[in-house]
Amino acid sequence: MQRINKNTPTGNQIIDVVLNSAWSQDEQRYEGKIYYGLLNDVSRIQLKNLFLVEQNSKCCYCLKDITADDMSIEHIIPQNISTEDFNTYLVVPELTENVVHKNTFDRNTHNIPPQRYPHDLGYNNLIASCKSSTHCNNKRGNAPISPFIYDDEMIQSISYEPTGSVFTTLAELDALKLNNDFLKMIRRLWHLIADKIESLEEIINANALQNVVDEIIVNEGEKYIETFSGESSKVAVIFQYKWFFNYYRQNNN
Ligand SMILES: [Zn+2]
Repeated sequence: MQRINKNTPTGNQIIDVVLNSAWSQDEQRYEGKIYYGLLNDVSRIQLKNLFLVEQNSKCCYCLKDITADDMSIEHIIPQNISTEDFNTYLVVPELTENVVHKNTFDRNTHNIPPQRYPHDLGYNNLIASCKSSTHCNNKRGNAPISPFIYDDEMIQSISYEPTGSVFTTLAELDALKLNNDFLKMIRRLWHLIADKIESLEEIINANALQNVVDEIIVNEGEKYIETFSGESSKVAVIFQYKWFFNYYRQNNN
């Protein structure tokens, strides 16, 4: 798993413009919903480009390669959450210093920048996920997870087994479904690939990757052979998870 270091001042500036658009000069208060839907196309693109830099173009959870077009914006603290559950996330400075529950945000004081942002819009509460429907942001919904991406100890506690399973003693991440069959299969393959080759450059094109995969899936069972060999091989998908090459190179022995 990778720790995310946010460029908070730059991100906050994008959100300041968004928040300012909700201020009513006549009423002297923030009108309507103070929520994520206030982001327009321009602010959305600015955010996505920042995320790509901060996250090394990886999904915050499964570490798949992502692009601005192939990304969903994830709220670490879910949009729909009680104030009581909200407080359970306030265990890392990135969140305690940046956000308040949107229902407790002061609507009557026009300070830009505000001291803290409503959590639907707070920059540090927003990160980039893949768009998968079987894991990560879209699968999670409003379910609780730990804010592990900001916690070095929790990150250290997360390990990937040679079988491809994710294991952790500290972080709550069940709702992300990172142990589904597909992701385990991909990580298992990277464990085997890292045993076989020394550099990613050896498998930079699909043919070279296919050759290596053909040699290692022979003993891995039907599921692998159906998915990653022959005419309809999904071998190119494996390369989107190349983050795991270095992980297993460092942890295989
Ligand atoms: Zn993902």
